[in-house]
Amino acid sequence: MTLAPRFRHTAAALAASLALSACAATTSDTALDIPEVAQGDISQATMVDVTRTLSSDEFEGRMPGTVGEEKTVALLSERFAAAGLQPGNNGSWVQKVPLVEITGKDFAPLTVTGSGETMSFEFGDEWVGVTYREDAQTALTESELVFVGYGVNAPERDWNDYEGIDMRGKTAVILVNDPDYNSPDLEGPFNGKAMTFYGRWTYKFEEAARQGAAGAIIIHDTAPASYGWNVVESSWSGPQAYAQRGENAPPLTKVNGWVQKDVAAQILDAAGQDLADLSAKARSRDFKAVPLGLKASTSFANDIRTFQSQNVIGVLPGSERPDEYVIHTAHWDHLGRCKPAPDGDDICNGAIDNATGTAALVALAEAHAKAGAPDRSLVFLAVTAEESGLLGAHYYAENPVFPLAQTVGGINMDAFQVAGPARDVTVVGPGKSQLDAYLEAALVSDGRIATPNPKPEAGYYYRSDHFAFAKRGVPMLYIDGGEDLIDGGRAAGAAVAADYTENRYHGPKDEFDESWDWSGVMGDLQLYYRIGRALAASESWPNWNPGDEFRAIRDADCAASATGC
Ligand SMILES: [Zn+2]
Repeated sequence: MTLAPRFRHTAAALAASLALSACAATTSDTALDIPEVAQGDISQATMVDVTRTLSSDEFEGRMPGTVGEEKTVALLSERFAAAGLQPGNNGSWVQKVPLVEITGKDFAPLTVTGSGETMSFEFGDEWVGVTYREDAQTALTESELVFVGYGVNAPERDWNDYEGIDMRGKTAVILVNDPDYNSPDLEGPFNGKAMTFYGRWTYKFEEAARQGAAGAIIIHDTAPASYGWNVVESSWSGPQAYAQRGENAPPLTKVNGWVQKDVAAQILDAAGQDLADLSAKARSRDFKAVPLGLKASTSFANDIRTFQSQNVIGVLPGSERPDEYVIHTAHWDHLGRCKPAPDGDDICNGAIDNATGTAALVALAEAHAKAGAPDRSLVFLAVTAEESGLLGAHYYAENPVFPLAQTVGGINMDAFQVAGPARDVTVVGPGKSQLDAYLEAALVSDGRIATPNPKPEAGYYYRSDHFAFAKRGVPMLYIDGGEDLIDGGRAAGAAVAADYTENRYHGPKDEFDESWDWSGVMGDLQLYYRIGRALAASESWPNWNPGDEFRAIRDADCAASATGC
């Protein structure tokens, strides 16, 4: 299965360039226009300087709402202007992003009644929960529990776990991941072991809310979640930040939470059901939601704080089709002051995550401006509050400066690999859209290959800013630095990645290092440049592949729009 039906490159080179096709999705038969693109004149000095500055202690880890934000926004506006971009938001370099921080407190236990005795579960060890609503008090009162399997309503896959059940006022009890996660390969209604959006907790809470549920509780399970209860407990207690909600925002449940697996087993047991048995049934299309005959209650209070942050937006206007936009995204924010390292260093500088990606926006903007006006407009968007849940990107996608139906597609950059050049790049979420053909063309030009995300079950495609656009239908590519290093191969690449995850990721030691080898970064930047430039020169509107979960949203958006896709 090839990805690009009409291609200005040789079939042999394409075949050599991989296994992007090793996915369940089929190829759209639309012919794609993929113009050849010359190399970009990309400045390594810019890449190094901007990364070094953004990750200096002076920027205090770039936490939204701090002086680190002011400095970051000022630097990016200045560098975008110097590169030759125009302010992207009606004459301004920024889009204000209203955020709200909700901190739950005074948690009552989660109680479950209806089986004779009252079961009571403690917050933290046994369950965690939050509200997305800006309410000072949250109460879930005798809400009927319904086991809804994976909690998926996917018309394009002919799958609806909520069919025939009225969830209004009730609480959904939901399995983590999606129905075929346990598959050995990538075959199945939900792409086998690769996680689809339907496997993510964000989707499950949103779908339960659309069904009118008062509560949604996910059953934690370490393997399909890809992280332990400790991660659930730490991420779902303490302050939670959200984008403030507009008037047309979708509905919300009162409570979204998680229970430990053995807690779920006890609850189901009290209902005369068996967790393993119901989990097996939930893997089938014939599954029907099971009312448990039990009622759940809990309550807690919330401290609410609102504040503003900013997305930074620059645009290089197109000369031929200025109302069509190709977007580059990277999050500028990081964690600010954080848990100190043993040496007392308490600034999470976020040099790799994501000073590198933010610097790349500047370096790419310069290179594109030097190459002259593109046919379509190129947008450079540095988003805020990724680390709090992709909030800046979600806010932009809900309040787009450039209409989404006129946004051709884009590429996200989150953390470059600074260990030297690699033969490959890692493609996160291969096979999702026709953008893969633009990536393949760029790889062929540079003599490189793609490696599909080695851990598709972890759902990384749904964990950075491009996802906010994808969810609204805009095709987005997400690639990571390769691991097959020219110097040392896969073993060396894996060692670098493991060292980063264990010793630096989201800690004070993700710091700028003068000894980094930038040649690999510059190679990766060339790919981003070629993809952006080819999309900007193309007359095509690449779409999601048939069967992809975002295809229907894009098709509806395009059908409703007089201009654009
Ligand atoms: Zn990041």
